[in-house]
Amino acid sequence: MDESKIIRKCAACNAKKSRNELIKITADKNKEVRIMPDSSFFGHSVYLCKDAECIQKAFKKGRLYKILKIKPDETLEEKIMTVLEN
Ligand SMILES: [Zn+2]
Repeated sequence: MDESKIIRKCAACNAKKSRNELIKITADKNKEVRIMPDSSFFGHSVYLCKDAECIQKAFKKGRLYKILKIKPDETLEEKIMTVLEN
């Protein structure tokens, strides 16, 4: 499958982009959270632009936690930010 043809929406700014331009964050049924998981990890997923503003916006008022149905984790924002550095 051609990843560039899969369109997903950023949870912060609602921009529609191809999946390889977005950061995928997935929480499985055990509430384990992975950033950019491989295709064998299934769960509830959120997509964000590879943009610090969108990441920060997603964490405002705990929005991202609500979407993923997970408990607040202060380290998660930092972990997502490291994706931008790579
Ligand atoms: Zn965005």
